[in-house]
Amino acid sequence: MDLKLKDRVAVVTGGSSGIGLATVRLLLAEGAKVVSCARKPEGLQQAARQLASEGVAIDNLVSQPCDVLDQGAVDALVARTREAFGKADILINNAGQARLSTFASTSDEDWEAELRLKFFSVIRPTRAFLPLLKESDAGAIVIVNSLLARQPEPHMVCTSAARAGVQNLAKSLSVEFAPEVRVNAILLGTVNSGQWARRYAERAAPGQSMEDWLAEQARNRHIPLARFGEAEEPAAAITFLASPMASFITGAALEVAGGVSRFA
Ligand code: NDP
Repeated sequence: MDLKLKDRVAVVTGGSSGIGLATVRLLLAEGAKVVSCARKPEGLQQAARQLASEGVAIDNLVSQPCDVLDQGAVDALVARTREAFGKADILINNAGQARLSTFASTSDEDWEAELRLKFFSVIRPTRAFLPLLKESDAGAIVIVNSLLARQPEPHMVCTSAARAGVQNLAKSLSVEFAPEVRVNAILLGTVNSGQWARRYAERAAPGQSMEDWLAEQARNRHIPLARFGEAEEPAAAITFLASPMASFITGAALEVAGGVSRFA
């Protein structure tokens, strides 16, 4: 299937690792031009080197350090996108990380930091890129969200609440921006990526391989597809929802979670 992404310009936040990097790779393979951002310049450089070493042509990739919570940096990202490619058709709001905490262990400062990260990592890039997206004849936003939005976990109380709020926001944006710009979300389960590599390093038994540790986590979570997702799997869903092939889809939430949701 031709996703009709050739020469479309896509901006991916958090594009240096995990799901964001897999999405950058796929968009480039589909012929899109890509602007990728993350906070650490060395992560972006490493990602570009990795793509090049895989034989991916990176002439159409622009990497720019940017903290999506920093308005000045986001404005500079818009300027760089305009300068490099003259337009933006697609925004993938992917940057972020989870916070492990119960209600008892979450301070007011933690709540403020988490709500700020989850909301403003979507609000700031969305507001800044909206004028360019509206100029496109196929403007699209994809928000990388979590199944926690619908199914909270007791050890991720404030992340779950923030995710629910972001899902509500996604629906509002899909209505407010229609018909010019489509807005969809994916709801992730557990995907093998940077944040799970960090948790493995902190929690696995000495000598346990990451593969074994992830298999154990999948069993404990009773994931029907019996494994964690790989970053390429949500990337495929993101790329489809962002593409003109999804032209009649807006306001949708697509679960990419191996069947772990209990919702019909
Ligand atoms: P990774 O840790 O592998 O990648 C996160 C990316 O986001 C990195 O490129 C990181 O780079 C960047 N990033 C983090 N904070 C910021 C920021 N403030 N501004 C700009 N870039 C930032 O994680 P995943 O690929 O797993 O996660 C992608 C998204 O999916 C995240 O929002 C995560 O919360 C969400 N998610 C993931 C799940 C999973 O199981 N993997 C489950 C549910 C949701 P740098 O550190 O250099 O900024």
